[in-house]
Amino acid sequence: MLATSGPVGVMGGTFDPIHLGHLAAASEVAHRLGLAEVVFVPAGRPWQKSGRPISPGDDRWAMTVLATAADPRFTVSRVDLDRPGPTYTVDTLRDLRAHYGPDRPLFFITGADALGQFRTWRDPDEVLALAHLVGVSRPGHPLPPPGLAEQSVSLIEVPALAISSSDIRARVADGRPVRYLVPDGVDHYIGKTGLYRDRA
Ligand code: ATP
Ligand code: MG
Repeated sequence: MLATSGPVGVMGGTFDPIHLGHLAAASEVAHRLGLAEVVFVPAGRPWQKSGRPISPGDDRWAMTVLATAADPRFTVSRVDLDRPGPTYTVDTLRDLRAHYGPDRPLFFITGADALGQFRTWRDPDEVLALAHLVGVSRPGHPLPPPGLAEQSVSLIEVPALAISSSDIRARVADGRPVRYLVPDGVDHYIGKTGLYRDRA
């Protein structure tokens, strides 16, 4: 049974597709911070990724559910998929604050690469008022990223998995394996639907 009290981690992402790097980071942060739940929030239309086509929200949602189903701490939210327009973290956090109520602390988890862009996010000060920011290590990216005021963010070293969704998409397009980089259910889903087979 899912906890109905206690701190909540928020893992936003495009999840195109979700992979073991996301899951290992969320699990480590949950353990380190004693989170009761981590909610994965697939982006609707990521404003920073407008340059490339994103897979349909239904597919990204399905893969995120498949990947998280076995972990009793993990849930998936549709707030970003159901909100029209580009996805901004500040809106995600407003919606989740309304959903979880005022008493549950929110921890927004973000990789070192995305954290480096923090000052370009919409309403960064409101983001910090709505949630504690947690920066996690990611191979190839310095943590903390240069220019970030360290008092506004907790930094957590997570197992270094040099896995990215971009690499997984390229692998599928090339006919190379993605087994052991994504959960089996996600591997099967990609094979069954033909996602990523044609290079965008
Ligand atoms: P893409 O290559 O399409 O950008 P991605 O692998 O970066 O995909 P996203 O959905 O963009 O995945 O990432 C969601 C969040 O997870 C971001 O905060 C990102 O920094 C973090 N993240 C992704 N992969 C890792 C990883 N291997 N280790 C730690 N954090 C990660
Ligand atoms: Mg990314």
